[in-house]
Amino acid sequence: MIRTSFIIWALMLVTWCAMRYPAMRRARRQKTRVDRRSTLDISLLVTCTFGLVVMPIVWRLGIFDGFADRAQGIVLAILGTLTGIAFLWLFRRSHKDLGKNWSVTLEVREGHQLVTGGVYAHVRHPMYASFLLWGITQALLIPNWIAGLAGLVAVMALYAVRQSREEAMMRDTFGAEYDAYCARTKRLIPGVF
Ligand code: SAH
Repeated sequence: MIRTSFIIWALMLVTWCAMRYPAMRRARRQKTRVDRRSTLDISLLVTCTFGLVVMPIVWRLGIFDGFADRAQGIVLAILGTLTGIAFLWLFRRSHKDLGKNWSVTLEVREGHQLVTGGVYAHVRHPMYASFLLWGITQALLIPNWIAGLAGLVAVMALYAVRQSREEAMMRDTFGAEYDAYCARTKRLIPGVF
């Protein structure tokens, strides 16, 4: 079950890369109007890569030598697969809905449009919500307390720092239109939070 869980996790990572790659290529061609990248922001992106990608691989290579391992059962593997499917679906949807307005760091593009449709009609941060689901998927599929939880902790830190900065940037750019959008949406879970 440990091997199967790891393979499911790895397949999800490969699928995520295949979905992200075309957006990265397209984003390189988009011109930036406002750049709010900071060293903290970049460091947190590196931390996320470490937590979500490097740690499970390091664990699988046996470098932990069994330290902090836990048992893995079929129920956790099935739950992990289901949350993983939800993660990939939400990630794909939010990328599609954001289209050319997406950027990996905090930026406003030339001709940037405020997206309020699709999944963005329900929550303001569906892509960050998908990353939190990725972290939960990893915790369920990687049976080690450290490598399993590393992704979720890193994504939570990224979200905590980014959310208010991103919303301030969007408010500066779109003013009352963004305020009205915030008044009718929640951040991560529709109608709740
Ligand atoms: N926080 C969003 C987007 C993440 S990508 C989510 O979790 O789905 C980050 C970039 O998306 C930001 O730099 C910002 O320029 C852009 N962005 C965020 N919300 C947006 C919106 N509603 N419409 C258009 N662009 C948006």
